[in-house]
Amino acid sequence: MKNLIGKHYGRLTVIKSTGKKAHSREIVYLCKCDCGSIIEVRSGLLTQDKTKSCGCLYNDTRKKDMSELDKAKKYVDGIEIGLFDGRFNKNNTSGFKGVSKHGSGYRAKITVKGHVYFGSTRATKEEAYKDRLKFEEELLPKKQEGKK
Ligand SMILES: [Zn+2]
Repeated sequence: MKNLIGKHYGRLTVIKSTGKKAHSREIVYLCKCDCGSIIEVRSGLLTQDKTKSCGCLYNDTRKKDMSELDKAKKYVDGIEIGLFDGRFNKNNTSGFKGVSKHGSGYRAKITVKGHVYFGSTRATKEEAYKDRLKFEEELLPKKQEGKK
């Protein structure tokens, strides 16, 4: 096994061997991450490029991806797209867009610019759906029309 001490792998710098063995021939090294964390990594992970940080690199990338993905996916002009493209129906208990079961009845729901509006609880889905349509008319900007 060649000596990895002093080498850099992504954000990690190999400081020294811990003396521990992992698997059959791998050595566990003590590595310092650019963020200041000290972690133990087995040599195989380093040489195969599988570990590039203490985990902070992954967390950073993931956070960024998620927030950008969320932004792109969920909102257009502050309107939740899910309400318009049909996917919303998957989480919906009534079969009517924007209507879900509530207690013993049904109620309309709409999300506009981060605010959630609920209609009154109605005995039937059809009535609740009327509330939903009224919400759309009152609350949604005109350019969303015809996109339902
Ligand atoms: Zn780190």
